[in-house]
Amino acid sequence: LPVEFERARVIMQQIEAAGFEAYFVGGSVRDTISGNLIHDVDIASSAYPEEIKKIFTHTVDTGIDHGTVMVLDHGEGYEVTTFRTESGYQDFRRPDSVTFVRSLSEDLKRRDFTINALAMRENGEVIDLFNGLKDLKNGVIRAVGTPQQRFHEDALRMMRAARFASQLDFKIESKTMAGIEANAPLLAKIAVERTRVELEKLFLGQNPADGIEVFVTTGLFKYCPMLAPFEADLRQLATLSEWNLSLSTEVWALLSYTFYFQNKQIGQFLRAWKTSNQVINDTVQIVRAVTEILEEEQSPMMLFQTGRDRLVSANKIALLFGGELQTNDILAHYDALPIKNKSELKIDGKQLLQETELQPGPQLGTILMQLEQAVVNGTIDNQHGLLIEAARKMAKEG
Ligand code: ATP
Ligand code: MG
Repeated sequence: LPVEFERARVIMQQIEAAGFEAYFVGGSVRDTISGNLIHDVDIASSAYPEEIKKIFTHTVDTGIDHGTVMVLDHGEGYEVTTFRTESGYQDFRRPDSVTFVRSLSEDLKRRDFTINALAMRENGEVIDLFNGLKDLKNGVIRAVGTPQQRFHEDALRMMRAARFASQLDFKIESKTMAGIEANAPLLAKIAVERTRVELEKLFLGQNPADGIEVFVTTGLFKYCPMLAPFEADLRQLATLSEWNLSLSTEVWALLSYTFYFQNKQIGQFLRAWKTSNQVINDTVQIVRAVTEILEEEQSPMMLFQTGRDRLVSANKIALLFGGELQTNDILAHYDALPIKNKSELKIDGKQLLQETELQPGPQLGTILMQLEQAVVNGTIDNQHGLLIEAARKMAKEG
C-alpha cells in the first residue's frame, strides 16, 4: 500500500473499533491498483458525520451537508464521507438531495464509472461490485449501471469520461460512448467552471489526442463556450504529437492560439470559460510569444515583457506546432537581456525630475519607457549617467 494509505489506516482502524465500516474509495483506489501516484485519499464510512466527530478529537466540517468531515491526525487531514445515495437530479446536475445510508453497495452504485467504484479495506482487500478490476486491467471506462440514465442524472460525467480517456489513456466502452453521444446537449446545463476543470485535465493527461477525439466525436464540444465553430481545428489539435503541457494556463494558451488569435477575442473566450484575470493576462502574453517564436523573430522587448516562466510555456506550445526552436536558445536569449525587470533600470522618475529639466507629466512616463526599451534592446548601456544624458536629449527632441 502507498504511504498515504499506510498513514490513513490508523484512522480507519479507529472507525472500525467504534463499530462502523470504513473503506478507501474513488480515484486513490483506482490509481493505487494501477500503480499510479495518488493525490487525495478519500475514505467512505457507514458512520454518520456526528458519529465520526465523536470518535475523533480533532475534526473540521469541510462538507458536512454532503456528509464529509475532515479528521486531523499528526498534521494530516483525511476526508471521511458517510455512505450516501443521491436522488432527484431534476436539473441534470447535482442531486436534489443526498441521503446517508449504512450500506457500502448503495454508495458504490451512485459512482460514475466502474474503475471509480472500487473500495478497499484498511488491510488491502478490494471490494469490486461492478467488475471494475477487469475494466481497470483492460483500460476501459464503463458507466456504472445504464449509461443513458447516469449521464441524464449528471451531465458532467460525460466530460469526466473524456477526461479519463486522456488522463488514464483508457478506451470508453461502446454503450457508454453511445450514452455520451445521445446526451451531449445536456452538458450545456453544467456550470462552466466544472466543465473547465475537466477540459483542463483532458489536455494535461497522458493521451490528449484520444481525449479530444472523444470530445469532438461525441459532440460534447458543441455545448462548451465558444468552441462550437471549431470542429476541424479541434480535430487538427488531435493530430499533434509530443504533448508536453503541464499547466492549465498552457491549455488556455494553446486553445487561444488555435482559435482566438487576437487579444480582444482571447479575453472574450476566457471570460466565457470564467478563468481568472491572471490566466487571461498570462494567456495573452504567451500567445504573443508563441507567434513570435514560430515566426522566428523574438524581439528583446517581447522576451522582457513575457518573462521567463511564460516563455517556457510559450516554447512548449511552439514546439507542439513544430517550432524547431529549443527552450535553451530562447531562455539563453532571455537570460542575456541587460535587465529582466523595470526595477533594474538604473534610473527612475524621481531621479529624472531631480537631475534633468523634465517636469512631472506624461512626457516623463514616455521617456522612462523609451529608456527601458533602449536598455532592453541594447542600444544604451544600463548606466545612470548614460541614461540621464539620453533623457536630456529625448526631452530636447520632444
Ligand atoms: P482524480 O484523480 O481527478 O481525483 P477521481 O476519480 O478521484 O479522480 P474525484 O472528482 O476526486 O475524481 O471524485 C472522487 C470519486 O467520487 C470518483 O472516483 C467517483 O467515484 C465519485 N465521483 C466524482 N464525481 C462524480 C460524478 N459526477 N458522478 C458520480 N460519481 C462521481
Ligand atoms: Mg480524487
